[in-house]
Amino acid sequence: MRLWQKELVTGLLLFLAVSIVGGMTGLFIPLVLALTLGTLMRQLYQINRFEKWIRTGGRTKYPKTTGVWEEIYYHVYRIKKNEKKRKKKLGKMIDQFRQSTEALPDAAVVLGTNDEIEWANKAAREVFGLQQSDKGQRILNLIRFPEFIRYLKSGNFNEAVILPSPVNHRITLAVRIITYGAGLRLLLAQDVTQLKKMERMRKDFVANVSHELRTPLTVLKGYLETLQDMDDGQSPLLTTSFQQMQGQTERMQHLVDDLLLLTRLETHQKKTECINVPALLSQICKEVETIQSKTSDLSAVGNLPGRIELSLESDVNIMGDEQELRSAFTNLLDNALKYSPDDSVVKMRWYRSSDTIMLDIEDHGEGIATADIPRVTERFYRSEAKRVKKVGGTGLGLAIVKHVLMRHDATLNISSELGKGSLFSCRFPVKRVCH
Ligand code: ADP
Repeated sequence: MRLWQKELVTGLLLFLAVSIVGGMTGLFIPLVLALTLGTLMRQLYQINRFEKWIRTGGRTKYPKTTGVWEEIYYHVYRIKKNEKKRKKKLGKMIDQFRQSTEALPDAAVVLGTNDEIEWANKAAREVFGLQQSDKGQRILNLIRFPEFIRYLKSGNFNEAVILPSPVNHRITLAVRIITYGAGLRLLLAQDVTQLKKMERMRKDFVANVSHELRTPLTVLKGYLETLQDMDDGQSPLLTTSFQQMQGQTERMQHLVDDLLLLTRLETHQKKTECINVPALLSQICKEVETIQSKTSDLSAVGNLPGRIELSLESDVNIMGDEQELRSAFTNLLDNALKYSPDDSVVKMRWYRSSDTIMLDIEDHGEGIATADIPRVTERFYRSEAKRVKKVGGTGLGLAIVKHVLMRHDATLNISSELGKGSLFSCRFPVKRVCH
């Protein structure tokens, strides 16, 4: 029998006893009233005791009691005890989390909905010079680099922003924002000083080597031309050797030129002026066709059919660096002609499409395997077929294109199918349009 049932039975038995005694003595009503009052007083006393115990937090062992009240005390006491255990466990976990984040080599700052600092670890305090008193301050009041302000306001946190540390300018930080929860952000900063130093060393090395190779190459080319002029064609071995040497020095010259251009793209500020793109494209097409007709066998016949179809559907101009854009567009056109049959047409289209300005270069050539598409813009990447067939090229052309477009806030989209052809689309944002 449950305790409350026992209490009920006891109450009923008491009532029965009081009724019998009351019936015999003729004091039924006063006795029942006294019983009711007694029961009520007892319950009030228990409630009062319980309220007192719970008011003090129920932390002490509960008072001695019997019946259903003992059970109530026991359950509440048990709940409280479990809660205390859980709290202790949670506190321990938070402590461990705090200790581990404090020990992290990367800086971490928890930002509130208004970008105010809620918490920062030791590394963050060191590299950003944050104090305990900065809690609640907006991060933009403490890290005031324009590129960081732009980054935080842009809301685009796919990539990190590179900043010097505000307390030590010799430390370079890669700062990244991670959004989580409702409007909360975590700022993570990694010390990339060594990485940047290595990168700079690599760039300097490539730039120096390419630069130093220019002079010997020019001397070699000069002597080769003289030797070729002196060649009377008596020895076929000598003639083919000269031709091969000339081909290889030209290839090396292209490599050096492309490497120097890439270095310039990485290190130099670009010029920004309003470029008449339709005029630039017409000029590029003319130049490329002239070079093509000179090198093509058909030129011997004297009437090479134009392979390039240029369609200028918009007259918009864009802000940028003419030299860089010329080099990117020429590379794309050269590739389209190089990797498609000599009698196929290459279409070049300059047009506006809703919020982008587009340059499409489409060929009906050999195409690119789907797996190769993401890799063709990597430096020195050339598909295996091109290497085997020894198709001329440096593998740097599309890397240059990608870099130039990136410097113009533009993107390169490649769609291609093996055996059918390729479409290279350069997308410029409307903000680049100028008059
Ligand atoms: P390169 O042409 O000097 O080899 P690029 O960087 O210009 O170097 O191109 C990289 C690779 O991408 C090429 O080797 C070729 O395999 C592929 N590629 C580029 N453009 C085209 C195209 N229009 N059609 C087919 N393949 C192409």
